[in-house]
Amino acid sequence: MSAMEYAPASVMLDGAAVETLRAQLRGRLISPGEADYDSARRLYNAMIDKHPALIAQCVDAADVISAVNFAREQGLPVAIRGGGHNGPGLASVDDGLVIDLSAMHGVHVDPATKTVRVEGGCLWGDVDHATHAFGLAVPCGFVSSTGVGGLTLGGGIGYLTRRYGLTIDNLLAVDIVLADGRLVTASADENADLFWAVRGGGGNFGVVTSFLFQGHPVHTVYGGPMMWPMDQAAAVLKAWQEFILTAPDEINGWFGFVTVPPVAPFPNEYQLQEMCAVVWCYSGPLEKGAEALKPIREALKPAIDFVGPIPFPALQGMFDGLFPAGLQWYWRADFFERYDDETVALHVKYGSHLPTMLSTMHIYPINGAAGRVGEADTAFAFRDANFAQVIVGVDPDPANNDRMIEWSKDYWLALHPYSAGGGYVNMIMAEGEERVRASYGGNYARLAQVKARYDPTNFFHVNQNIAPAR
Ligand SMILES: Cc1cc2nc3c(=O)[nH]c(=O)nc-3n(C[C@H](O)[C@H](O)[C@H](O)COP(=O)(O)OP(=O)(O)OC[C@H]3O[C@@H](n4cnc5c(N)ncnc54)[C@H](O)[C@@H]3O)c2cc1C
Repeated sequence: MSAMEYAPASVMLDGAAVETLRAQLRGRLISPGEADYDSARRLYNAMIDKHPALIAQCVDAADVISAVNFAREQGLPVAIRGGGHNGPGLASVDDGLVIDLSAMHGVHVDPATKTVRVEGGCLWGDVDHATHAFGLAVPCGFVSSTGVGGLTLGGGIGYLTRRYGLTIDNLLAVDIVLADGRLVTASADENADLFWAVRGGGGNFGVVTSFLFQGHPVHTVYGGPMMWPMDQAAAVLKAWQEFILTAPDEINGWFGFVTVPPVAPFPNEYQLQEMCAVVWCYSGPLEKGAEALKPIREALKPAIDFVGPIPFPALQGMFDGLFPAGLQWYWRADFFERYDDETVALHVKYGSHLPTMLSTMHIYPINGAAGRVGEADTAFAFRDANFAQVIVGVDPDPANNDRMIEWSKDYWLALHPYSAGGGYVNMIMAEGEERVRASYGGNYARLAQVKARYDPTNFFHVNQNIAPAR
């Protein structure tokens, strides 16, 4: 093939170098024009449409090393694709090379040490499947189709956060391919500065080919959604806040505004109604679950109460079907220490007018075990905030984008002045350098130093970018 045949309009590739890379890879190298180019470049968020020059579907660390070396030598921008869920589509890059890790989805559980080795392209469903057989779970998120790579490297907030900390608080080591093509291990004992930085600093430092996590004995939990009519929203939000700020670590539950899906088992009279909800996960002894949530049920009887014993992977996967790949997504996020009467009123105002059926607002508790980690102990800076808040406009139809983006921005602008500053990097769009700096707070300067040491040319810049310190 000639060089031209490989190239999208705005990039000219060296055909011989491309053929050498193709020969080096055990995985596939996909070029524009090939039959599955369009399916391989598609991202979870259909609002983002990028056309990479090449997609390297790596199957092992050797493939990743070849791909990194190729891109560096050819001067091509690189994007790293884990699960492809990132809001602003940072798993792809126009006219560059996508290092696609989705074929690297092996999980190995060591039941003796309860540690779990996870390849860099796994989804959380892969991990849940492998660990559940051993009665274990790795603290992850609230949806099982999300990638381990992006979620972990940005922090990782989920059902076990109050009990065992963020996902990064359960990370023991990573194997990572650096910009110069070397594979190194980062852990508390090896390359400790890099290990500090990858725990929150995203894909800025290299391609993680495998993660080593500490698992925990979690099998069947007491969980699921409770829902209340919107006229009770202020009371529920206040009661939930007071409860979750002092609850034992075993209790988790995120608050949200939702539209009740028009399907069984939701009662007919509530289908398509806006309601407020708390989705619970009590991971203590199962027989104590009902007792643990009694204060909430007594104070505010839910209209819908689907909370009961449920295998942890089933709770994790409960919303997967509602949010298939290919929807339009627009994200806005903040951290909060507390909600007072004024901010609760603002929430009710905007939360009562969800622009589409799937649009939503969630508040995730990040106190408990996650809040007891020091602000400078990992790159994730907002350890003193009690809540991570996210506003998302979601819909299948691009025709609704303007409406849902306007709602998300207005809602965010109304609440932001009361926030702790910064937002969870995994739940913001591409909002510029100032927003990234704010999101790393006091840790930004140290991150920039580590970046200068491991990636001085900012080779890995398709991410929530941390510029190398000069
Ligand atoms: C439906 C949905 C639910 C979500 N729920 C949660 C939740 O409960 N908790 C939570 O914390 N977050 C949640 N998120 C946000 C999520 O953490 C981010 O979207 C994250 O970027 C997804 O990771 P990914 O691997 O799928 O992303 P990708 O889009 O593949 O990658 C995002 C970025 O991460 C980096 N990256 C990914 N893999 C690697 C790797 N192996 N090595 C180096 N860098 C890598 C790259 O910089 C890349 O640009 C959710 C997102 C969605 C869409």
